[in-house]
Formats: sequence, C-alpha cells, structure tokens
Amino acid sequence: ALTIGIVGLPNVGKSTLFNALTRQTILAANYPFATIEPNVGVVNLPDERLERLAEIFGSERILPATVSFVDIAGIVKGASEGEGLGNQFLANIREAHAVAQVVRVFEDGNVVHVDGKVDPASDMETINTELVLADLQTLENAVPKLEKQVKGRKAEQAQLDAYLAARKVLERGDTIFSSIESDGLDMEHLGQLGLLTAKPFIYVFNCDDGVLGDAEKQRQLAESVAPAQSVFLDAKLEADLVELSEEEAREMLEMNGQEESGLDQLARVGFDTLGLQTYLTAGPKETRAWTITKGDTAPQAAGVIHTDFQKGFIKAEIVSFDDLTAAGSMNDAKAAGKVRMEGKDYVMRDGDVVEFKSGL
Ligand code: GDP
Repeated sequence: ALTIGIVGLPNVGKSTLFNALTRQTILAANYPFATIEPNVGVVNLPDERLERLAEIFGSERILPATVSFVDIAGIVKGASEGEGLGNQFLANIREAHAVAQVVRVFEDGNVVHVDGKVDPASDMETINTELVLADLQTLENAVPKLEKQVKGRKAEQAQLDAYLAARKVLERGDTIFSSIESDGLDMEHLGQLGLLTAKPFIYVFNCDDGVLGDAEKQRQLAESVAPAQSVFLDAKLEADLVELSEEEAREMLEMNGQEESGLDQLARVGFDTLGLQTYLTAGPKETRAWTITKGDTAPQAAGVIHTDFQKGFIKAEIVSFDDLTAAGSMNDAKAAGKVRMEGKDYVMRDGDVVEFKSGL
C-alpha cells in the first residue's frame, strides 16, 4: 500500500497526532489477518456515500478504503549529512510515497520549542533545507556520471537537462514538488532519482482554537505552502476525539464549529495527494470502496479485487453514485437507462458503482 510519512521537528505534536491516528486504526476489526507495524497507522477514508449504498443494497457490512501513515521520527539539523539518526530518517522518507509535515502553530508556554519560539515559516524551512540538501547530494553524484555518458546523445542530453534544472531549483532552496509547474520540471526524467523533495507534500498545521477559528491566518499559511495542500487541526483535540463515541465526537466538533475531524480531513487530503481514487461495489453482503490510481482503466480496477477479474475482463456494468441514488435502486437505475456497459478502455471515474463481468 502507498504510505504517507509523517515528519516534523521535536515537540510539534507528531506523537499526539500519530497516537490519535493509530487509536483510530480499524484494521483489527475489518482485516483480522493484516499485520500492522507499530509505526504505521491505518485509517478509514471517510466516505458518506457508503452508508447510503449499504441502505439501498441492504448490505451487512461496510468496508471503506484506507489510508496508511508512517511515523518517521528523528529529524535533526544536519540530517542530510547523516548526523545521528539522520541517515535512517532520510531512508524512511525515501520509502514513503508522500510526506506530511507537522508544523507547530499552537502557543503553549509549557511546551518547549526546540528553537525557542513558535515560528511556522522557520520550522518548515529547517526541515525542507535538510531534504533539499539531501537531494542536492543525490544530484552531485548523478550529474557527473550522466555527463560522461552524454556525448551528444539526445536521450541522455534530455535527462541531463532535467537534472540540471532540478539542481537549479534546489540550489535556490526550493523543493522539487513546489517547483514542478513553475519551473516546468521534467518529472519523467527525474523520477528514477527518487528525490525526497519530489514527493507530494502535505502541511499539517497543528493549531490552537485561535487559529482554527481564524480563516485569514489559515489562508496565509496555506498560500505560503501552495501548491502543497494544507490541513489545519488541533492534535490534542484529535487525540480527545478518538476517545469519544461517534455521537459525542460529532457534538464536540459542532461545538468547535468544525464539520469534520482533522484526522478525517488528513485522510482525505492524504489519499488525494497520493494520486488515488476509489470506485464502489455493493451487494447484500457488503458495500465496499476499492482503491485505484487516478486514470486506471476498468480492467485495472477489476484487478484490485482479483487478478482473475483483470485477466478475464469482459465488461463492467457501471452506474454513477448520483444516478443510482436518484433512481433509488439498481433496477430503477437500469429502467431509467442510467446503467452503462463499459469496455476495457474505460477510464474509471470517482463515484462509479461497479459490477465486473469476467470470463474466468
Ligand atoms: P512530538 O515531539 O512532535 O512528537 O510532539 P508531541 O506529540 O510529543 O507533543 C509535544 C507536547 O506538545 C506534548 O506535551 C503535547 O501534549 C503538546 N501538544 C501537542 N499538540 C498540541 C496542541 O495542539 N496544543 C497544545 N497546547 N499542546 C499540544
């Protein structure tokens, strides 16, 4: 499964957030045979559509899609030089598919800040600098090797150009991910380098009540990290929420003027940042969300259920969630001509409710 690595300076609330994530972990109930590493938190992707589908089909149970987070401890200044836990830290990030950086915004005189004061911009720079330096090292090794191979060959020249453009971005202190569009970076040629700052970034701003209610402050913070996505939450509140019943939690959120918990937000943003989407299946036994990559075709989507479904793919019977719920039942949707037969070139859309026809 694709994972999101959680990083951040000491004392910003990583453990608090991560503990809330692992408390939320539903694996034990739904996937009894799955083993989970202690530093991995697996949470449900919130999806209100599933309950509605389960109603329509009278499903016995609901299986949502999940999002996996990995706790990556140990960022320190000098990590890029392999100081202390530095090497392990970088190796762990390399394995993650996206990076969620927890940034302290909350003020609390009782919680010491490593640099003496709460300063989100400076904290983000500290971490990003280590990652940028690590990537620069990767390029310091890769560029000379490639230069030797080029000698006027077109393919290698294009690759070298991509490397040099990336080096320029890093030398001015920016991350690759934030510069893909602005600098027109050639990600196809950069892909094999496994650059840390090329991974999709999410910023998790750990706020107190003040900032959670301050839309303007949030807008400024979000803008400062765009195009990376932002999530605003209060890690302590999230830790409290997971201890409550669903109903109590909803009441507490309402009191705080929030529609959804920070963990749910983080799950949604994380799932999206990983480039994933879901399609839905429903029947009397279960209603389920299946995870695919954006752009996957119908046979690829079928393969997520079973490889035989992909090999023996004939066609997919598909109705959009909106059409299905508007019609009220599968039969009514069929009568209304809303159920389509799609072939092997069909690209899956969000909200597709699917039944695959397989020849195997
Ligand atoms: P880590 O070092 O990044 O893992 O940080 P911790 O999760 O251990 O948090 C450090 C301290 O900050 C702990 O005492 C937490 O209770 C506290 N803390 C975490 N999140 C918040 C928050 O949102 N508000 C306040 N006031 N304190 C927090």
